[in-house]
Amino acid sequence: MSIAAKLAEERRARLAAERLLELKQAELFAANRKLGRHAKALSEEIVETRAEITNVRNENQKVKSDLTVANQKIEIVERRLWHSIETIRDGFAVFDIDNGLLMANPAYLSVFDGLEEVSPGVSYARILQLLTEEGIVNIGREPPAEWRARMLDRWHSRAPNPIIIRLWNNEYIKLIDRRGHGGDVVTLALNITESVQYEKALKAAQKKAEAANRAKSAFLANMSHEIRTPMNGVVGMADLLTETVLNEEQQLFVDTIKSSGEALLVIINDVLDYSKIEADKMVLHSEPFDLERSVHEILVMLQTNAQTKGINLLVDYDMFLPSHFIGDPGRIRQVLTNLIGNALKFTLQGHVKVSVVGFEATQKTYDIRILIEDTGIGIPPEKVDHIFGEFNQVDDERNRQFEGTGLGLAISKRLVSMMGGDIWVTSELGQGSSFGLNLSLPLAEQETPLPNLRGRVNHVVIVETNVALREILVKQFSVFDIDIDVATTGHDALQCIDRRTDLVLIGDQFEDMDGFDLAAKIAETGFDPRVLLLAATLAEVQSDPAGHCVSGVLQMPLSRRGLLSALDKMAPAPQVIEVDAPIPVTPRSGQKMKILTAEDNKTNQLVFRKMVKSLDIDLEFAVNGLEAVEKYQSFQPDLIFMDISMPKMDGKEATQKIREIEQDRHVPIVALTAHAMSGDEDEILASGLDRYLTKPLRKDAIFDVISSYAPKGCDPVP
Ligand code: ADP
Repeated sequence: MSIAAKLAEERRARLAAERLLELKQAELFAANRKLGRHAKALSEEIVETRAEITNVRNENQKVKSDLTVANQKIEIVERRLWHSIETIRDGFAVFDIDNGLLMANPAYLSVFDGLEEVSPGVSYARILQLLTEEGIVNIGREPPAEWRARMLDRWHSRAPNPIIIRLWNNEYIKLIDRRGHGGDVVTLALNITESVQYEKALKAAQKKAEAANRAKSAFLANMSHEIRTPMNGVVGMADLLTETVLNEEQQLFVDTIKSSGEALLVIINDVLDYSKIEADKMVLHSEPFDLERSVHEILVMLQTNAQTKGINLLVDYDMFLPSHFIGDPGRIRQVLTNLIGNALKFTLQGHVKVSVVGFEATQKTYDIRILIEDTGIGIPPEKVDHIFGEFNQVDDERNRQFEGTGLGLAISKRLVSMMGGDIWVTSELGQGSSFGLNLSLPLAEQETPLPNLRGRVNHVVIVETNVALREILVKQFSVFDIDIDVATTGHDALQCIDRRTDLVLIGDQFEDMDGFDLAAKIAETGFDPRVLLLAATLAEVQSDPAGHCVSGVLQMPLSRRGLLSALDKMAPAPQVIEVDAPIPVTPRSGQKMKILTAEDNKTNQLVFRKMVKSLDIDLEFAVNGLEAVEKYQSFQPDLIFMDISMPKMDGKEATQKIREIEQDRHVPIVALTAHAMSGDEDEILASGLDRYLTKPLRKDAIFDVISSYAPKGCDPVP
């Protein structure tokens, strides 16, 4: 190879080497740059990581200091808690799951009076043992082993009931133990000595108060007796005075004495009843009674007063409701008398209507609702609830003119709630009031069916202007499918009467003619209906100028049974059923009825003698029980009135003696009593007396008794 070729080859080789060098240099440069970038990234990462580490370090520091603060706080709270637990005067202790004591406060430990054994670790069973062995607990007569077993049983129960233990020094500790989820038991031992002593003191005070209350009731019973006896003299004598010849002024004086005496008696009775209820001495006596008759009797009693005020007393007794129920007739009458009496008292014009409805709620027990509506002065809305309270009256101009104690409704409400019923009122001022009474009463066995007029009376004409009364009559007749025509004047009534008319019922309130004139005009029509007059007073009945035109007179207030019985008697095919069984009496003729009255008080003897002076009887007095027994044998009376409180032998004992010696002839003995406390009545009747009358005695009540026991052939009461 030539040199040139060689040179050329070398040059080529050099060039190639140079190119390779360049290439490698470029690669190196690129690698260097990459390395530089990587190094930069790495150093940045290192910086970040360092910062993070600083952060974490800072946070750690903070958490550590927070933890320290928290720990300090916990320590403080724990210290305070223990401090509190240690300072409370009640015991506190914690037991572990194995019933070993974990901790206890000084109050808990103080009971053990320095017994070193009672410290953390001691078992509950051992504590119980120490309590009994050391005589720390007073377990009475219970054997210690039994007591401990009882206490341990309780301790092991899932939720032990609180228990009270008594310590040797008469302190009372109430143990309350709570089992926690982990099995620990927290015990609280409350020292309840003070409340136990307080409770004992309260019980003693209550006993004392009850004794005082009993003394009060006894005092009231005595007071009632003491007041009623002289009141008998006052009211009775005033009653007798009215029958003598008096000038106008004297008459006024006597009437005032009588009405004041009676008002005083009402007040005494109210106060007495209220005290009895207060002292839980009021006892209800259930017996069969006639509700319809009771309502009617109350209305009859109030009729004179209603008549004087010109107010209609109406009664609407549900035609389908029986009338014999079982309840306390005396107390039901008392409530009704109060409500109906109030309705009449607070009504100056219009009417007072008593509606009785009811339905059989359960077998043989009726839910009865009695509504007493009046058209009186009404009660302001804000006073409606107030009036059932004690001594509460509506105190306004209109109300002040009426007398009363303000106890009637309070007593009624309490009586009704004792009967399991309720009482309410709705009222509109100036329009009237409606008092309602709900009672649930069992049906009494014996019930006299009402006369059935269906098919016996076909057409009735009612002449009456009072809407309420008309409505009641229409309702009552409709039950028997009777055809009814209603008229408000005599003229209209005459237009309604025709061949079919069986009955014309004439009220006393229409303008164009009076009832008797209408009756006379009916007679002239040629038809022959029965004519019944509704009269407010009996005086109206006696002044029948037309003579025979009126078939009968019904006195207001008109009862359902009264109306139907009257119609029953005049309608064809009567079905009269006796309501009351006649009292068995021994026939005697031409002799006077012999009455023995045992009464020690001279004034009361005089009152009695004067009261019965118009009667055709043979009267003897006995001044004590002993004499009553003697005279029973020598005088052989047909009836004995027996005072209860008498010297030597009281009325109850005398009656028992008479019952022992009397043979087959039972002599009726009627108690005359001033006793008014509950229970007296039972006691009196249990001694063998047949009935009793309370003082002050009333002439009509005495007459009633005498005529009901008069032997056949004697007619003592004219
Ligand atoms: P008294 O009638 O003896 O005052 P009550 O307890 O029977 O006591 O009645 C309390 C009060 O309720 C009465 O004073 C009267 O203000 C009011 N009151 C009761 N019934 C009626 C009534 N039918 N109409 C208006 N007010 C009545």
